Amino acid sequence: MRPFIKAENVVHEYSRRDEEGNVTDINRALDGVDIEVTAGDFVAVLGANGSGKSTFAKHLNALLVPTEGTLYVDGKDTSDHNNDLKIRQTAGMVFQNPDNQIISNIVEEDVGFGPENIGVPTEEIWRRVEESLKNVEMYEYRKQSPNHLSGGQKQRVAIAGIMAMKPNCIILDEPTAMLDPEGRKSVIKTVRELNKKENITIILITHYMEEVTAADYVYVMGSGQIKMRGTPRQIFARSEELTKYKLTIPEVTKIALELIKKGIQIPKDILYVEELTNALLKLKMHQ
Ligand code: ADP
Ligand code: MG
Repeated sequence: MRPFIKAENVVHEYSRRDEEGNVTDINRALDGVDIEVTAGDFVAVLGANGSGKSTFAKHLNALLVPTEGTLYVDGKDTSDHNNDLKIRQTAGMVFQNPDNQIISNIVEEDVGFGPENIGVPTEEIWRRVEESLKNVEMYEYRKQSPNHLSGGQKQRVAIAGIMAMKPNCIILDEPTAMLDPEGRKSVIKTVRELNKKENITIILITHYMEEVTAADYVYVMGSGQIKMRGTPRQIFARSEELTKYKLTIPEVTKIALELIKKGIQIPKDILYVEELTNALLKLKMHQ
């Protein structure tokens, strides 16, 4: 099957120019990125600040094009500007700051703005607005002003706005960075449900390790390169490497690793509190 996203040796250089247009400085933000994403997958891209995550996200939306290498989204080469519109309809983007994405004073109008812009007929717009708001559990807020919502609720309205465009894929660039723990949880739960129930391909970009436990596959970025790749379990078991890329593993995994160091025989890829308690109970029963 053709991959939904295929990045081959993608390089991105930001260049600074002086008044005459001569290049004075080059910053290689992506340095040979290879990624393949199958349709319907939930993929997480993890990386510390400045590792190139947002630059990569912008490529997935054809907001930037590779300096070298190629990137295909749903079989379309992002460097061909004729594909821009198709790519942006196929792969919608949710950004860090929900306040920058909300444009209307009423939630349901905000969600309908995208489909209206691409010429969806009115009745169909209202059908989509209802469906999308129900999907992100914001339907009861449809008549309200987004200004009174919490950060997590605003971000879910922004996700509904993307959903109403009927994309195959949603790219979220640190969607929870500005939210409190409650808001973060609600956004991640929404994203997971859209992936499972609606089969939407998800690219979740984050620096919070806890948010990637539910992903099918994780890419770890550092200095514009993919430094690690694997399932969340495979990645979290490599804790020393992760600290090298300024990432920290979830508390429960840390505790499990400490227990192993003390000679307690439990698996070293524990991701959830329940797994740790079960592993410990099992040991106790075998005593
Ligand atoms: P992340 O999202 O992981 O924090 P970015 O993709 O924003 O990383 O940045 C990667 C690198 O590219 C950083 O060194 C950053 O300073 C640089 N960079 C990002 N945007 C620009 C830009 N518009 N012009 C020049 N350099 C940039
Ligand atoms: Mg960023």
